[in-house]
Amino acid sequence: MVTVVSHPLVQHKLTIMRDKTTGHALFRETLREISFLLAYEVTKDLPLGTRKIETPLEKGTFPSFEGPRLCFVSILRAGNGLLEGMLDLVPEALVGHIGLYRDHATLKPVQYYLKLPDRIGEREVIVVDPMLATGNSTIAALTRLKESGATKLRFMCLLAAPEGVAALKTAHPEVSLYTAAIDRELNEKGYILPGLGDAGDRIYGTI
Ligand code: URA
Repeated sequence: MVTVVSHPLVQHKLTIMRDKTTGHALFRETLREISFLLAYEVTKDLPLGTRKIETPLEKGTFPSFEGPRLCFVSILRAGNGLLEGMLDLVPEALVGHIGLYRDHATLKPVQYYLKLPDRIGEREVIVVDPMLATGNSTIAALTRLKESGATKLRFMCLLAAPEGVAALKTAHPEVSLYTAAIDRELNEKGYILPGLGDAGDRIYGTI
């Protein structure tokens, strides 16, 4: 399942991020705001239980998350830019990190770090990375998470290329994808067109 979050606020903020004159401080702040809005969409159908509480006036049973806490997994380093707004929305979520860099010659992902919360198999896991380009890193991260026992997986990004969407669908057809837009294509270096450039460099000002 692919969900393009077409909310006007998301689209307006995405244009700010695409603009090459947007500096890293505004880029990072806007990413944080968009991630909040995307996270709202990604968590829309999370299972709810109930909890007995007392309001100041009476006792009652009300909707509440139950079971193990939600887990966000950030694909380093650009994923951390999306994580911030998500944690604003769900501060009690647990966070895992997976370090993958893209070898610029082969465009293949190389894993250098993995740290996940316990009981990963019981948790709803939302994996985040701003750019779904070739799909290689996302696919590798999801494969690694499955090897670690994760079963309930969703993927959230900011921008996707059609090539990445197709590759993800083939490799992990049961993983729902949430994005703010699907752009035209990849260039020969694996960048999304029209895109927004290198998300990690733009978040951290490392251009
Ligand atoms: N990663 C990025 O940061 N940007 C792209 O366009 C593609 C992959």
